[in-house]
Amino acid sequence: MPVLGYGTWLGISEKAQAAGDAKEAFSFDFDVSDAPKMVEALSYAIDIGYRHIDTAHLYRMEPEVGQIINQKIKQGVVKREELFVTTKVWHHFHREADVEVSVRGSLRRLNLDYVDLILMHWPMSISQKGVDEKIDYLETWRGFESVLKKGLVKAIGVSNFNLEQMKRLLANCKVPPASNQIEINLNLGQPELVEYCQSKGVVVVAYSPFGTMVPSRAAPNSPEPKLNNPTMVAIAKKYNKTVTQVTLRYLYQRGIVSIPKTITKSRVLENASIFDFELDQGDVATIAKFDNGYRTVRPIFWQDYLNYPFDKVPEKAEIPKSLMVWKNGINLDID
Ligand code: NDP
Repeated sequence: MPVLGYGTWLGISEKAQAAGDAKEAFSFDFDVSDAPKMVEALSYAIDIGYRHIDTAHLYRMEPEVGQIINQKIKQGVVKREELFVTTKVWHHFHREADVEVSVRGSLRRLNLDYVDLILMHWPMSISQKGVDEKIDYLETWRGFESVLKKGLVKAIGVSNFNLEQMKRLLANCKVPPASNQIEINLNLGQPELVEYCQSKGVVVVAYSPFGTMVPSRAAPNSPEPKLNNPTMVAIAKKYNKTVTQVTLRYLYQRGIVSIPKTITKSRVLENASIFDFELDQGDVATIAKFDNGYRTVRPIFWQDYLNYPFDKVPEKAEIPKSLMVWKNGINLDID
């Protein structure tokens, strides 16, 4: 897996972000207005050498992502086997037999013969109506092993699995997960889970690698560091890099793959320019101090569902409709 990927989740609408807290923010729709900008940015990313693309059924972007990939292959910019494409199976498809239905749907929308990695997006199983289906993720995993055997995917993995769930899965599978994609950034280091996965040969992929550092995710009262944090700015200056580059480099030096999302061309290049410097031990130790366990992605509306992987909080919220039912694709609804 290439150590840096391009993330394709467009995020939630500005109105939602302005609302400021997870409870409010997640009750709004997905922001799809930036899809054309993402198509351009992804096209540019492949042109300049990105070879790893992270998408999901949930993101509504599979048709657009597939269109760009196929265009780049046709133009001779890249060969299919040089690309590493990941997509994910949503909560509605956790019965063993439904995994293949989901994967075949993704392949159809992507217009690809296979994906390089398919992930179980979350360990919970929830119907389109929000009913807790209470399907053991070990059953779902058997469906993953089956699509691997059929050659629909080159590798199988999980996402948002906690330490206990990883241990249980590894103890009860025929094919171990190739990867666990989890939130990791400067506020959320997850050292125990990362070390466990890495000790078992499970590649750790960091989603939301910038956490609440960037203005679009900076909820009120979210912790430092922000982009203008003096400590981070000083470190960045020392290496003649930006704070975001230092952040991605820090994760890379921990042996973690990052998949930052940006629809801004200059940032596509900026985020990939992290392989020509090395943070020294003192700076690594300073940056590590920002880890305070703060989560950017806190889907509290799922916390009473079986296998919710994070600590529960006293708050309550309804599952937003946008996480239950959606059209497949934004501009290219091929279903
Ligand atoms: P990121 O940490 O990638 O942050 C994205 C935000 O950072 C955007 O607002 C972007 O702005 C901004 N940004 C990107 N690069 C820079 C830069 N160099 N300088 C300043 N700002 C920058 O968050 P995501 O939550 O999007 O995570 C990345 C990917 O991880 C997703 O796209 C998705 O593929 C995956 N993911 C997986 C999850 C899972 O459950 N498995 C959950 C969440 C994400 P702009 O686009 O305007 O440039």
